[in-house]
Amino acid sequence: MKYRTGHGYDVHRIEANRKLILGGVEIPNDNAGLTGHSDADVLTHAIIDSLLGAAGLGDIGEHFPDSDEKYKNISSVILLEEVVKLIKKDYIISNIDCTIILEKPRLQKYKDAIREKLGGILAVDRSDVNIKAKTEEGLGFTGKKEGIAAHAVCLLQSKEADETTQKLAVFENMCGEFRKDMRSIPERLEKLRSQGKDKTVAYKELVAQKLINTNILMFFKKHGVYIDE
Ligand SMILES: [Zn+2]
Repeated sequence: MKYRTGHGYDVHRIEANRKLILGGVEIPNDNAGLTGHSDADVLTHAIIDSLLGAAGLGDIGEHFPDSDEKYKNISSVILLEEVVKLIKKDYIISNIDCTIILEKPRLQKYKDAIREKLGGILAVDRSDVNIKAKTEEGLGFTGKKEGIAAHAVCLLQSKEADETTQKLAVFENMCGEFRKDMRSIPERLEKLRSQGKDKTVAYKELVAQKLINTNILMFFKKHGVYIDE
């Protein structure tokens, strides 16, 4: 199975009279929130970039340019839904792990709601969406409450089987055929022998009738297993 990992990072500035939306959930924060062209959901943007990154599909700006009026004040959850649709053509989302870096507010009591919301959009179990929150102890722009940053890492599983998986599937199929042949052999041998044919002749006849896959017989013989003895 082929796996691909991706990382996303985003920052938005904190301003007064804006909503604080994280992972599609509105978080009360004394009327201060994040500013940007869309709803500035920094967490959802980081997740989008991690998904696009894992799939090798560029970044959020290429898919939803902030010069485009149609994305003005748009809910980022809608953008995430579009990206998920794109990703799910070729991949299964295994899990997402996120870190939000902010001085305040404390996110502990909102984490479950965020996981629930994102799990629904990503169509994964909420246990496959992990949310962590950290302060930077007063340092830098997050510490000074000028902005909020978010990181996201995701793992995608390719729907397209790789070469080894394809070979295994062929081999499993061969084994299935072989088991089927094997089950029918005693009965068929018995029938031929009851017609007065000796064991070797009867066996050769089964092989000639392609009732025993000769390739498999050769394979076993090569490994010292003589199933006609
Ligand atoms: Zn953003």
